[in-house]
Amino acid sequence: MTIAPALDRVDLDVLGHEMHALIAELYPICRSITGNGFRETLNRLQRFIPVTMHEVPSGTQVFDWTVPLEWNIRDAYVKNSRGERVIDFQKSNLHVLNYSVPVHQKMRLEELRPHLFTLPDHPDWIPYRTTYYQRNWGFCLSHRQFLDLPEEEYEICIDSSLENGHLTYGEIYLPGDTADEILISAHTCHPSLANDNLSGVAITCSLARYISQLPRRYSYRFLFIPGTIGAITWLCLNESVVPRIKHGLVLAGVGDAGALSYKKTRRGNTEIDQAAAHVLRHTGAESQILEFSPYGYDERQYCSPGFNLAVGRLSRTPHGTFPEYHTSADDLSFVSPHALSKSFSTCVSIFSILERNRTYLNTNPKCEPQLGERGLYRMMGGSTDNKTSEMAMLWVLNLSDGNYSLLEIAERAQLSFDSIFDAATALKQHGLLKDATMTPSSEATEKRA
Ligand SMILES: [Zn+2]
Repeated sequence: MTIAPALDRVDLDVLGHEMHALIAELYPICRSITGNGFRETLNRLQRFIPVTMHEVPSGTQVFDWTVPLEWNIRDAYVKNSRGERVIDFQKSNLHVLNYSVPVHQKMRLEELRPHLFTLPDHPDWIPYRTTYYQRNWGFCLSHRQFLDLPEEEYEICIDSSLENGHLTYGEIYLPGDTADEILISAHTCHPSLANDNLSGVAITCSLARYISQLPRRYSYRFLFIPGTIGAITWLCLNESVVPRIKHGLVLAGVGDAGALSYKKTRRGNTEIDQAAAHVLRHTGAESQILEFSPYGYDERQYCSPGFNLAVGRLSRTPHGTFPEYHTSADDLSFVSPHALSKSFSTCVSIFSILERNRTYLNTNPKCEPQLGERGLYRMMGGSTDNKTSEMAMLWVLNLSDGNYSLLEIAERAQLSFDSIFDAATALKQHGLLKDATMTPSSEATEKRA
């Protein structure tokens, strides 16, 4: 499989800057869980990779939820008595409580106040607030801006619509040698916020483009969906596909300067849990592994008990634990090309292990085979590399009894997956290993190939 080796040909520095430029392009668009901002975002991704756009009508019942009315917005402002826009949607789309119903009227500050949202602890930042499932309207503004509002009459206008329409989501399916799938999911519903989750959108887009050009064992499915309702809708409408999903990753908050963190699947000991832990441990950088909890992003839906999929989550600083989270400070300067490219290569390393991981049987299990006679023992130089590859071969031979995958052998041997994989490849070439899962007929096919 060539998914990891091909990474050597990618200029990660250039890719990091390309992903940052894509985030900068998408950043001004006013997205929500439905509406034209979401469509516009998917349209722009089409430049890089063919994304299939799906439209699900408002009112569609999806498990315990209903696809909401479609929300669109053209303009919004609060004007003072001199007709000046003191809060202006055109300056930042965060100024509008996302999913606000239309309103156009005059009112005094005291009447307006319950509809204003600020962050007193961070007086220069605009909070990001939503009202998807409760009819309301409002404005978000910096606390400093709020304190400057004199007691007078204001003209309030939110030129939005909340009507029967559709929930839009984007999907890319890349068939592989097997129908077994790896799912990559990014929520795409936030307006001008960079880390949460344009970082996930940009990396998902780059992964799809990268993997589409390479031979692959697994089929890959990439989803650009509105948070929560999008995952619920996709799972409800695609239940027949779900059994094919063998591994998955939710990508969210992957562009900030914090250490990489992997949140385990609900099952907690799946192959992707092992692969992600192995990759993070071998990056040499600080990282953390988080246990599953039913709070977070769309892993909540993929790991609900009725599905219980092997879907983990890759993030950097976990959501809600950095002050910039869901504020105007989660801007373009909060995400960096370097962090984005490192998150990208981490995903590739995880998929590359999944692509190559196998379980073998030692064909010569009674005592050690004569490795020297087969040219597999390179004792002469005694270099560290040779020592590692010899240890790797001994571990693979010893643990290849059908119960350990190469990844599990790497973990037990405390060696990198790559050295265990290389050892297994050499041993297989000398007939000392055979695929533990192979039936006699598929073995014959492989021999002919
Ligand atoms: Zn969020």
